[in-house]
This record gives sequence, C-alpha cells and structure tokens, in this order.
Amino acid sequence: MYFFSEEERKYLLKKLIPKAREKEIADELRGWNWHSTELSPPHDIILPVWEIGDRYCETGRDVYLRHVKKISVPPSEEMVAGRIYHEAIAELYPMAKRLIYTNGLGICTDLAEVLMERLPEAIVEAEEQLASSVGSRDAAREIGENLKKLWAFEVSRIVSSIYAYLGKYRYLSEDSLINHALPFVVEHKLDGQYLGLSSNLSADAINMGGMLICDLKTGPKRDFHKLSATGYALVYESLYEVPINIGCTVYLSFPQNHPTPHIDRDFFLITDEVRQWFIEERDQKQDMIFYEKDPGRCQMQGSCRYREHCR
Ligand code: SF4
Repeated sequence: MYFFSEEERKYLLKKLIPKAREKEIADELRGWNWHSTELSPPHDIILPVWEIGDRYCETGRDVYLRHVKKISVPPSEEMVAGRIYHEAIAELYPMAKRLIYTNGLGICTDLAEVLMERLPEAIVEAEEQLASSVGSRDAAREIGENLKKLWAFEVSRIVSSIYAYLGKYRYLSEDSLINHALPFVVEHKLDGQYLGLSSNLSADAINMGGMLICDLKTGPKRDFHKLSATGYALVYESLYEVPINIGCTVYLSFPQNHPTPHIDRDFFLITDEVRQWFIEERDQKQDMIFYEKDPGRCQMQGSCRYREHCR
C-alpha cells in the first residue's frame, strides 16, 4: 500500500521533490505559525481532519446535522468496508515489525507463513463488524474476500521489501532492517489542537524517510481528497516545526475477477492553495456549528445517509 514503485520513486526524486524545493510556501501557511496567523481556529470547536476534508455533501449540511441537530446515522456499507481494510493494514504492519523485534531476524525466513497464519483473526474481527452493520450476505462475503486478497498482497509486499534488504546487507540489526524495509508509521497519532482539530488524530501513514503523508481512500477519486493529507501535514508542521511539502492519496480498490487489490497513488504538492482550502473549510464548518447556521439542502441527495433528514 505504501511501498512506492520504481517509477513513482523516480517521479518523486526527479520531479516532485525538486518542484517542492522551488515552490515557496507562504510562511503564514506553515503549520508552525498557527499561533499568529489565519491558521489559528476562529472558535473553540474541535473537529477531526476527515470531517473538514469531507466534501461529499455539497453544502456541508451533514456537519450541521451531526453537530447542531445531534443526529447520527449508521455508517454506509462502503464506510464499513473501508474501515475494515484500514484496520487490517493498521494491524499487519506493526505485527510484522513486532515479530522481527521479538524474534530477531531468524523469523524472516518464515515471515510470510507466520503473517498469513494471523489472517483468520483479522477475518473474525471483520466478521463481527460486518454482522452488525452490513445487511446483505453477498456484500459481507465480498468484503471478506477482499480482505483476504489485501492481506495476502500486503504480506507479499512486506516480505519482498525485507528480503531485498536482507539480501543486500549482511550485518543488519532488527532496527535497521525495519527502518530500511518498512520506513513508515501507520495510524500515526497526532495532536491537532493548535489548529482546532482533534487531539487524537490518526494519519494513515507517514513515510519517515521522505517526510511524506499518505492518506488511504477506498472510493472513487475526488479532488477534495487531498484535503486530508494536507490537514495532517499542517498538524505535523504545527507539532514538529518541520516542513511537509508532499502528500499522497492512496486509492485502494478491488476490481472484479482480479486476484489482487488495485492500488493507485496520487502524489501532490501541498501548495498554498490547498492549505488555504483546508483552512477555509475548517473555518466554514466551525462557523456553521458555532452560529448554528443551517447551510441548506443539496440538489442531488443520491445515496446520502442523511437524506431522510433533508427531505
Ligand atoms: S441529503 Fe444532501 S444536504 Fe443532506 S446531508 Fe446529504 S448531501 Fe447533504
């Protein structure tokens, strides 16, 4: 999921990283200036990054319904599936690292088998969630099948990265191997308080080598998806005062009759414009909650979970 291909690596090194160096980011839009600029939140209202970056509702009325009218609706089938895939990844990577730290490099010979043995536990956990939230058996079966494909695929990526480094370096400590082969932290906790965001945020993955933030999506591509990685980048800058210039939205899908998941990564510069966009979204949503302003209904309700409340 977060292993970049050779082409992507080249694109990052030869194109995007030099471009990021050239492109000056306005200092007032760096997260570390939260205290003295428009980055400072207008109200004492805490929101998660996903809620600010979520533009599926064109007017933002879903935020109004949740926070002002206190209406909550169950998650959609797609949301449950997305959560299950997220959780599987969040479990698998630390598990691989833990196995190496606990057992030493010797475990690497059988690492694929050991990790695959843990799949049934992940399936049981997913089934518990599916039983309580996904109505159709076919949908639940499909999500279960996708989970197996995802697990097997990620295990193969983890093991192949580990073998590449074990094959290259003869004397390698467990710590060094993990930092080379699995150089990212998944579900990295961040405190977004300085920016009016939750103090318990979870960035999907931070690539510690490249200081690049990845955000995983399981639906079709939308332009506002880049707001999520941008929000986490601003928070990271506000906490550690290091610049984060590149974001990556990772799109996970499961094409019919395909043996593996399909993964598409969208790299982008975290420019002034996208930073400004994130801040405007935050301000607008905080204002809506603070002044209890109903933003009005959308034109096309489609399959929105709140349509019952917007008729
Ligand atoms: S029904 Fe329309 S206005 Fe209401 S929350 Fe859904 S998308 Fe927004």
